[in-house]
Amino acid sequence: MIFNEAKNFINGAFKSGSSSKIHRVISPLDGKELTTFTESTSEDLDEIISFAQKAQKAWQKVTLKERAQVFYKYKQLLEKNSAELTEVIYLENGKVHGEAKAEIDKAIELTEFACSLPQFVNGENMEVSRGIYCASTRSPLGVVASIVPFNFPSMVPHWTIVNALALGNAVILKPSEAVPISSQYIAKLLKEAGLPDGLFNVINGTQSTVENICDHPDIKAITFVGSTKVAKIVYQRASHNLKQVLALGGAKNHIVLLPDAHPEMASSNIVASMSGCSGQRCMAASTLIAVGNCDTILNKLIGDAQKIKCGTTLGAVISKAAKERIEGYITEAEKQGAKIILDGRNTVVPGKENGFYVGPTIIDYATADMPVAREEVFGPVLSIIRVDTIEEALAIENANPYGNACSVFTQSGGLANYVTENASAGMCGVNIGVPVPREPFGFGGWNESRFGSGDITGKSSIGFFTKEKKTTTKWNPEAGTNWMS
Ligand code: NAD
Repeated sequence: MIFNEAKNFINGAFKSGSSSKIHRVISPLDGKELTTFTESTSEDLDEIISFAQKAQKAWQKVTLKERAQVFYKYKQLLEKNSAELTEVIYLENGKVHGEAKAEIDKAIELTEFACSLPQFVNGENMEVSRGIYCASTRSPLGVVASIVPFNFPSMVPHWTIVNALALGNAVILKPSEAVPISSQYIAKLLKEAGLPDGLFNVINGTQSTVENICDHPDIKAITFVGSTKVAKIVYQRASHNLKQVLALGGAKNHIVLLPDAHPEMASSNIVASMSGCSGQRCMAASTLIAVGNCDTILNKLIGDAQKIKCGTTLGAVISKAAKERIEGYITEAEKQGAKIILDGRNTVVPGKENGFYVGPTIIDYATADMPVAREEVFGPVLSIIRVDTIEEALAIENANPYGNACSVFTQSGGLANYVTENASAGMCGVNIGVPVPREPFGFGGWNESRFGSGDITGKSSIGFFTKEKKTTTKWNPEAGTNWMS
């Protein structure tokens, strides 16, 4: 399947960006060109915003219950088109079909949460003094922007767009330049679901487009999801321009493995976590800290990882540069004295010789100071550090600058509590490799994995995408006066 040019979506219609810079979009599966897009200009952004502001003014007058109706229809459209949407993710991102389908399933769950927002956004009303009532209500912010990464072309946009829209905002989505196609389908289906024109918009581009978004005075809030390096730039630039910002960054997630863990459960969960989406997940297990003698479990884990088939149960990584970066980490660890137990370098998938594949890789006897064990690798690579005590394991986890996820594998409730209480991560798991909180809980890490406050999904997103108004009312003249009358 080759796609038409990926265009901007503005006021309900597709339109090319107006610079002269054309970008090629390459499929990681075989290195072939899938589509192109044209870099957008600041004038393109101005045009989108002028329509978006007009549409948002009308949209905020529609009640939340009525706005939610669009998302019931949208959910049905996601379900109906699931196979085609899955195929698009497979082609542009390179993950395997099951993982691509899981993204659509998650987009559906996120949309269900948007449909349920009327049950959560009910405000408060209280008699604060005799005959005097104070009520809180929530209003939309206006035009908001969502800047997203390559690794989840559909799920991560759905983290923000459905809630932001249902809560009465207009949204501008800036997709990753590596995977701009899924956003075209999101735009098409939201329109088909009955979302009025101008409320959902797509702007394609790279760094300059993000900078224009950060600087535009009429964008009230920005969510960013991507690497820590860019999260910091976006957070600083947009906050400096007095916008509300939530910027999620990269990750280095630790697994604390204790010798009493259930072998099958630990092995299957850890292998799925390190290899799922080719390790290109901000929740992927990346460094395993084995406490004491965990050899039986580790041998099982290595055996399970060996069964993974590149090109069948393991997808591609996003680009040639990503493949080279990941393989570089493995080579460097080898030179530094770590033992490569399973080596995914130089993997070639028959029939897909030009694809970008890295096989599952397990590195034993890594140390906490090695880049492979310390930095975000973003590939199907698991480093094992061996320690004697839980305190040593926690010291390594706590010292890492990131703080997205940490999971412990044990059958002891007390030890599990001890690890989750003391880990420096926003999302912790017990016997779960990918501890993603599901709605209505919110998604968000700590430390250098998140800049700004609150979570990006779930109930927390209500606070981010709305502003609260408090109204104090007195109707009864006999209520008299008091200190605040
Ligand atoms: P990235 O930071 O390179 O790109 C993210 C977005 O920023 C893209 O839309 C891109 O066009 C834009 N961008 C890139 N460089 C920029 C610059 N210099 N100035 C302004 N904008 C710029 O991230 P990526 O490679 O697309 O995605 C992978 C990263 O995203 C990983 O670090 C991963 O951990 C992270 N991620 C984090 C979460 C989370 O929830 N914390 C979720 C998914 C991915």
